[in-house]
Formats: sequence, structure tokens, C-alpha cells
Amino acid sequence: MVDVIPAPTPVRIPVRGGGHFPVRRVYCVGRNFADHAREMGAAAPASKAERGEPVFFLKPANAVVTGGDVPYPPGTRNLHHEVELVVALGRDAPPGVLDAKVAAPLVYGYGIGLDLTRRDLQAAAKAKGLPWDTGKAFDHAAPVSELVQVADVGDLAARTLTLHVNGEKRQHGAFADLIWTVPEILHALSRLYALRAGDLVFMGTPAGVGPLRPGDGFVASLDGVVELKGRITDA
Ligand code: MN
Repeated sequence: MVDVIPAPTPVRIPVRGGGHFPVRRVYCVGRNFADHAREMGAAAPASKAERGEPVFFLKPANAVVTGGDVPYPPGTRNLHHEVELVVALGRDAPPGVLDAKVAAPLVYGYGIGLDLTRRDLQAAAKAKGLPWDTGKAFDHAAPVSELVQVADVGDLAARTLTLHVNGEKRQHGAFADLIWTVPEILHALSRLYALRAGDLVFMGTPAGVGPLRPGDGFVASLDGVVELKGRITDA
């Protein structure tokens, strides 16, 4: 049998040192830094015991943008940046719920990305108790840097992430402050989904989210180990 339309090709993210990482799915964690949870008007857990379950949502795999220009999306007057660690899975998870020791070796590498958000659409949906997919899942909603392998990043808990817009520091956070670590997030995701090679996980943003406008230049950095530089262009 032949395909009746041309088969869509997956987005491929460049890997430092050579090769490309084809994207299968994009999972995102909703609240993973207490300071951002508070700025969004949500309660931040006082301790790990009180943190409950993480909030997840997804973006389409073809929302991933690799480098450079990002067109201002339609349907919004309030596009927001959320700088986030991006975790890239290099292996299929075994069946069942993953414990942290099994989860960690699934990680191929890391990048830095932006969980771009049409905040006005998200806020309007939230206020009505409706799903907020249109605020999060849209074309070009997931700019991602090149990927670097785990060994090149080293101890994640010792690292930080930062976003500058037009040279001004907008967001900064330390991975030591994550409410859920990478293995803990993979454990929680595995209770809901079959994780596979090619999956990305956006790990949540620290405080300081704010607007991006056409012409703005951004630099997202994981301690200078890996950077994402780009510009918002007219629609
Ligand atoms: Mn986010």
C-alpha cells in the first residue's frame, strides 16, 4: 500500500558533535519551580511531602523550532517566554512504572528551550475551567537549542538556567530548586504514558515569565554549556 499523502517528516534537533535527534513527542511540566507557581497565583508546596502530583501538558512534536527566528504567533496579544531545561530521551522505557534508577539512564541529553505561551488564551481558558491547549500547543511554540549529551552537562543540580531578552536578564533559576527532579518527572510520566526514544520533556520554568514582541532578541542559556539564540519576527 502506498501513502495517500506525503508522510510528514519529524522535526530533527541537531546534536553537538554530529547527528540529529528526531522528535516523537513533547511533554511539558506545568509547575516545577515554587517561585513561578507563586507568580501564577498557585500555592507552592512547603515540602516534598506536600507537593502532590506534577501537572503535565503536551505540545505537538512539529511545534519544535530549531534555532533562529520564531514568528510571532496568531491569535494572541500576549506571547510569553518560559525558559526551560529540555530533556531528550534516547531509549524506550521498559513496560510499566519506572523507578528513578531505571529512568535516569533513558536520558540521552539536554537542551535549553522556550515553552512559548499565548498567555491571554491560557488565562481566559483557565478562568472558565476550560482546557488551555490553544495557549500552549501551537505552531513554533517550542524553540529548542542543539542537544548536548548528559556527560557534557555533568551534575544538573549544580547548574542554572537564564533567559536574557534584548540584553536584559528576565529569568534565572537553579536546578537544585526543582520541585520534581528529572528522574522523578520520568517516573510520574511513566504512570500516564509509554515513554519512547525521541520524546522531549520541558521541565518547567522559574519566575520572571513575561512578554515577547516582534523584534525581541532572546538568549536562553544552561550555564553557557548550551545556548539558544533567536529573534521574534513579524507574523
Ligand atoms: Mn512551562
